[in-house]
Amino acid sequence: MLADAWPLAVLAILLAWPIPVFLARAGWPRRHPRAAIALWQAVGIAGGLSLIGAPLAIGVAPLDGHLRTGLVELARDALHLRVPAALGWGQEIALALAGVLAVRLIGVTLLSAFRIERELRRQRDAVDLAAEHADRQLRVLEHAAPAAYCLPGTRTRIVITEGTIAALAPDELDAVLAHERAHARWRHELVVQPFVAWESALPLPPAHRATAAVTALVEMLADDHAVRAVGRPALARALVAIGGTGGPIPNPRSGGQAGKAKAATDSAAPTPTLDRVHRLVRASTSTTAERLIGPAAWLAAVLLVAGPTWFVLR
Ligand SMILES: [Zn+2]
Repeated sequence: MLADAWPLAVLAILLAWPIPVFLARAGWPRRHPRAAIALWQAVGIAGGLSLIGAPLAIGVAPLDGHLRTGLVELARDALHLRVPAALGWGQEIALALAGVLAVRLIGVTLLSAFRIERELRRQRDAVDLAAEHADRQLRVLEHAAPAAYCLPGTRTRIVITEGTIAALAPDELDAVLAHERAHARWRHELVVQPFVAWESALPLPPAHRATAAVTALVEMLADDHAVRAVGRPALARALVAIGGTGGPIPNPRSGGQAGKAKAATDSAAPTPTLDRVHRLVRASTSTTAERLIGPAAWLAAVLLVAGPTWFVLR
């Protein structure tokens, strides 16, 4: 039975440190941002499963040959309000650790989702009051500093300042709006939000790397949508002119005041703008090996989730 615990424990360690470090340093995600996001999501899901599954497997080890059937036996005893006699203090500590980790991960994720939604609602209400309504979604703030960001959700708002309009040519402004509308349309905040939550639940360097990497990758996805709409040169010029665009969720450390548009934009864009510009202006030809990395990353993501799931359910 402890045979179930060791593979999960090894996987939890690999997913907690070396794999996020390796993935954060890799260059290929710039060419395959969607596949890279899937792989980061798989790292998060598999990491959570193995982190909780390993102490669970240790805890129910004396009860049955497998984790799943051991948990069924444990639940049966718990329904009768008794602790299985076969469990020693070591197993009880392992089960308590698994319970604390599960409650913390799930609780912090739900709390983070609630806080982000509340902050989005507050900022939407603020820009609706303070800004000019250019159309159903677009709000223009009377502010000289160039800034553009998105408040996604069921009542999406795209916010730009008068400084942005003054700084950009029409095609550059179209590029910025296409970028922000891509965040809104594809609900990129739902991609970033779990990583922000996991970083809050387990505030360790790998979680920080994951959040930063995924935030950067959704910027690249939105850039790719804007490029398809208006072309690379217009978006690259716009990024140079206004120094970047906002991310899909409000940064909890920014204070989130709509009036502080420039500050919100800068703090919500952890990807150096120069990196995004370089990505846009570099030649996009790729070798066969580079093209195969995308499908390989999707396959790795599926296998990464399937592994610990199989250990838990078999
Ligand atoms: Zn963006």
